[in-house]
Amino acid sequence: MREYTFEFKDPSLEESIDRYIKRKRGEEVYICIFGLLEPSKTRNVFKIEHLLPLPNCTDKDRNIYCLPPEYLDAVVLETESFTGMRFLGFVHNHPGTRSVASKADIAYAGRMRIDWGDRFESSSITLFTRCLMAIVGERKTMRVYHVEMSHDRSTYTITPIKGKTFKYKVLTRRY
Ligand SMILES: [Zn+2]
Repeated sequence: MREYTFEFKDPSLEESIDRYIKRKRGEEVYICIFGLLEPSKTRNVFKIEHLLPLPNCTDKDRNIYCLPPEYLDAVVLETESFTGMRFLGFVHNHPGTRSVASKADIAYAGRMRIDWGDRFESSSITLFTRCLMAIVGERKTMRVYHVEMSHDRSTYTITPIKGKTFKYKVLTRRY
């Protein structure tokens, strides 16, 4: 069984997430993650190299809810084309509370399978059979979930994984 881990390319990425969250003053933020998935015999590393913030399009309370825009697919494809990197998933924050995935987050992970699941079917690495959902919680904590679809794509698992960070403290406890 190969282990999945993640790492940030350099400290500036985490610093920009942190600054952005502070500037938004308690609003939930939603950022696309781009980079590389480096497979090896023992470990697969999601290398986070580029971030792309998205507007929060929710019509509910912006401190609790976050909804990406409808044109998300188009933006992701253009950014992949522009950077030559791959879309790896998302990072969002839970203002004032823990970084544990909410029911809505888990439901969203399932939806990503439906919306994106077949997109990478023909590429050499089927990426959206797996992706990251990183959540920033209170006191500079972070959980990074590996969302993984089952072989027949009928179900998925969402597991906190270990990783290398410069600023955030990575938690791998499920709750
Ligand atoms: Zn959440």
